Amino acid sequence: MSRCRCWTVLGAWLVLTAVATAAPMKALIVDGQNAHNWKETTPILKTLLEETGMFTVDVATSPAPKADMSGFKPDFAAYKLVVLNYQGDAWPEATQKAFVDYVANGGGVVVFHFACAAFPEWKEYNKIIGVGGWGGRNETSGRYLCWRDGKIVCEVGPAGPSGFHGPQQEFQVVVRNAEHPITKGLPKVFKQPADELYCRLRGPAENVTVLATAFAPKDKGGTDENEPMLFTIKYGKGRVYANMLGHAGEHLHSVAFIATFQRGAEWAATGKVTQKVPADFPGPDKVSIRK
Ligand code: ZN
Repeated sequence: MSRCRCWTVLGAWLVLTAVATAAPMKALIVDGQNAHNWKETTPILKTLLEETGMFTVDVATSPAPKADMSGFKPDFAAYKLVVLNYQGDAWPEATQKAFVDYVANGGGVVVFHFACAAFPEWKEYNKIIGVGGWGGRNETSGRYLCWRDGKIVCEVGPAGPSGFHGPQQEFQVVVRNAEHPITKGLPKVFKQPADELYCRLRGPAENVTVLATAFAPKDKGGTDENEPMLFTIKYGKGRVYANMLGHAGEHLHSVAFIATFQRGAEWAATGKVTQKVPADFPGPDKVSIRK
């Protein structure tokens, strides 16, 4: 008996020591321009990353729109994770190359919400994000992904803009791939509080795995299709995770967003998810908000 207890205590001590001594990974949030309120969302994203106990977080803030961008050179290679909260002027060529190299060489990336609208003209960025919207994107920008008849359909889709949404609305997010580390163990259907529901994103759509979709009703400005909300992209050796939820600060208190963001960040950085599904994670009917 006492021997058992001794081993239990030793085991617990080893686990605690391992957790305590695991060096946090370096994460970088990139912001500075965005048609969204990045000044509000970046500090919340930073806190959410830190809350996992896995990351220390730096922020690289670009010059303002139309200002000289030539000195904007984040050291992407120094990080395990880059979170994109940026949409705006083109980065200098050297910065673009450094970012592409970072991902190709195995870097982790989270594409947060409107970062899917950045850089419509930058070919490699569009491959890295898989599909995107706005910025003049339309049926010439690539393929559209949606869930129909039990599978992901990949097609050009009807002519017209890529990237739009109706009025903010509550919606159900439906897991379509329950085996992926990010979604494994989550309820099959969970509720996001009133938020933008992105529609008809298009792009190269290469090496994309759709993890979860949401139905966008036409009578609420949608497509009557199941639109991708959470998806991953394999680019070179890199892992990219796109989370289309989270328009503004208030939406980042939704546990559906918090947990899918934190789990996706860990996966992008390491290829695994060790976080437990939080007890307050929502089911299909009721939203869950953390104050
Ligand atoms: Zn938005």
